[in-house]
Amino acid sequence: MLHDADVLIIGGGLAGLTAGIHLSQENVRVILIEKHTYPQHKVCGEYVSNEVLPYLQQLGITVDELNPSRIERFLFSTVAGKTIESELPLGGFGLSRYKLDDFLYKQALVAGVSVIQSQVTDVQFDKDQFTIYTSEGRTYRSKLVIGAYGKRSSLDKRLQRNFILNDSPWMGVKAHYKADFPDDLVSLHNFEGGYCGLSQVEDGIVNACYLTNYRSFKTYKNIDTFQQQVMSQNPFLKDFFARATPLFEKPLTISQISFAKKQPVENHILMCGDTAGVIHPLCGNGMAMAIHSAKIVSELIIAYFKSQVPDRQLLENEYTRLWNHFFKKRLTTGRLVQSLLQRPFIASLLLRSLQLTPALMPLLIKQTHGQPLTASSISFETR
Ligand SMILES: Cc1cc2nc3c(=O)[nH]c(=O)nc-3n(C[C@H](O)[C@H](O)[C@H](O)COP(=O)(O)OP(=O)(O)OC[C@H]3O[C@@H](n4cnc5c(N)ncnc54)[C@H](O)[C@@H]3O)c2cc1C
Repeated sequence: MLHDADVLIIGGGLAGLTAGIHLSQENVRVILIEKHTYPQHKVCGEYVSNEVLPYLQQLGITVDELNPSRIERFLFSTVAGKTIESELPLGGFGLSRYKLDDFLYKQALVAGVSVIQSQVTDVQFDKDQFTIYTSEGRTYRSKLVIGAYGKRSSLDKRLQRNFILNDSPWMGVKAHYKADFPDDLVSLHNFEGGYCGLSQVEDGIVNACYLTNYRSFKTYKNIDTFQQQVMSQNPFLKDFFARATPLFEKPLTISQISFAKKQPVENHILMCGDTAGVIHPLCGNGMAMAIHSAKIVSELIIAYFKSQVPDRQLLENEYTRLWNHFFKKRLTTGRLVQSLLQRPFIASLLLRSLQLTPALMPLLIKQTHGQPLTASSISFETR
């Protein structure tokens, strides 16, 4: 059977681009379809856990040249301004998606990925092959498809995925600022109905990104009023927004962010990154998970093309098993921490317990983060 590609990847964010680079480096023919052009700003806290660094190095990707901030400390504040600080067990780096995604896109081209700017509108699976339809009316055929199209897409509706049936109350807002802010700190500040992360990205720029409930947001009509009247009840946020100079004309927003459970394989598509499951941003780890899932899916696909994974069913089963093994517990912990922090009384109780037992904080952080990704971090079950 003749295909346009061995693997077609839908979406060129972190998961899609990383998988594209990995597979192309192993001589797998890859087409990646991304609906936007590069570079683009994205709603994201832009703090990346260091757990991804060994894997990126293995792929020949060195983010150092982009001048990221090096982040080693974490600070949390309650609405009343009570704080707790901890070292980050692994640490991380701060890099804007504008720079990072564009950098990976260029690396993908060098690796031989065929990147097409278009929107995928439908995917059909028949007689052991996929047909992919785009908004330009083009069709592509491939043996395998990776779904790496992010949190929510019209494609989810088309594929009749369950999570899309329910509205989600969560919206995200992000902007860059010029402000005096430590370059080694990522901080998370609670406010009524949400929380806001602050950290430096490259070149001394500060990212302020928050998640809030749309119902509480919409009564304030606009972002400025919301930031002044609700978020600024937290003294840290009040101080930050009072002295920071915005670098965007207006903040970016996204709505309908769903944390509902999804399946890592649907309609035979291997789902990667946020398409397989979204972790609460307060855990600061969705980007590392996107890159990690790209590693898992790429290694399995390479084994499949070498006949080490004998058939599609085993490939899908094994991907589901590994995805659950690495990410299911993290997502559950994220949901739990999120629901606790949204109750002010419990949040301050939790903070007091963590203040009394400081060793608990790094343990809690470890629950939502992974181990450094080395070449040998997964082993397959092929029967
Ligand atoms: C408020 C907020 C703050 C966050 N902060 C952090 C943080 O500090 N650290 C962290 O690690 N994570 C954070 N995250 C999570 C992180 O942003 C995501 O986990 C990460 O972007 C997932 O990468 P991805 O490649 O799966 O998806 P994306 O980066 O969303 O990429 C998906 C791509 O698919 C494309 N696409 C969509 N539909 C189609 C289609 N039909 N056809 C073609 N292309 C399509 C999109 O244009 C997009 O480029 C945050 C998330 C939110 C909401």
